[in-house]
Amino acid sequence: MRLLVLCLCAATVACASASNRGSSGAAPTYIDVTVTLDASTTPVYEGDAPMRFEFLKEMRRGDPLTLSAYSLGAHSGTHVDAPMHFVANGASIDQVPLDRLIGPARVIEIADDIQAITAAELGKHDWRGAPRILFRTRSSIRGWMTSPLFHRDFAYIAPDAAQLLADANVQLVGIDYLSAEQFGASAPRAHQILLGKGIPIVEGLLLTNVHGGDYDLMVLPMKVGGHEGAPARAVLRRR
Ligand SMILES: [Zn+2]
Repeated sequence: MRLLVLCLCAATVACASASNRGSSGAAPTYIDVTVTLDASTTPVYEGDAPMRFEFLKEMRRGDPLTLSAYSLGAHSGTHVDAPMHFVANGASIDQVPLDRLIGPARVIEIADDIQAITAAELGKHDWRGAPRILFRTRSSIRGWMTSPLFHRDFAYIAPDAAQLLADANVQLVGIDYLSAEQFGASAPRAHQILLGKGIPIVEGLLLTNVHGGDYDLMVLPMKVGGHEGAPARAVLRRR
């Protein structure tokens, strides 16, 4: 009996040390794929509301506390688009089911010379069967999510690829710049196709240091009632 108790103790210690690897600095368990919201480094989509971060009170200036106010567009930095963004009577961000936002995801690497992720491009990659698809594109290769300059020639999901993903019943689609839609597209077809099927779109993912492959994804948007999108914290864990 004493031996059994000792064995259980040893197993508990082993488990505890394995789950603490992230904080011990050895092998991090989670990869933060969220861009830091900072008006000096975070790009804002052309024409969208500017980001403002203001201290109302600051202890470093003698105030008895530190207190901030933020003003920013709902589609700032790493964020989630809910169906309501482009679908009449579509679900708002607080209504997107957590089961779509949390679970297995595959990161697909798209080469730097590819701007349009078309059905033909998608066909060159092993994406089928993955419940959530995240695209790591030229935007990551070029570090665009951490550069305040807005770039129009980011890689985007073409409508025919959006249709393939929707038909395959993926739970979520993500991309590494501020929109999944071609800049200046005559109609937001990719958004309409995905959101029309209830598929949330994560935009502005920071995938610079992420390789293609299978991960567990957790993306948790701020729970803003009745709005079409919200900034989110997104993390990956290698499977
Ligand atoms: Zn958006």
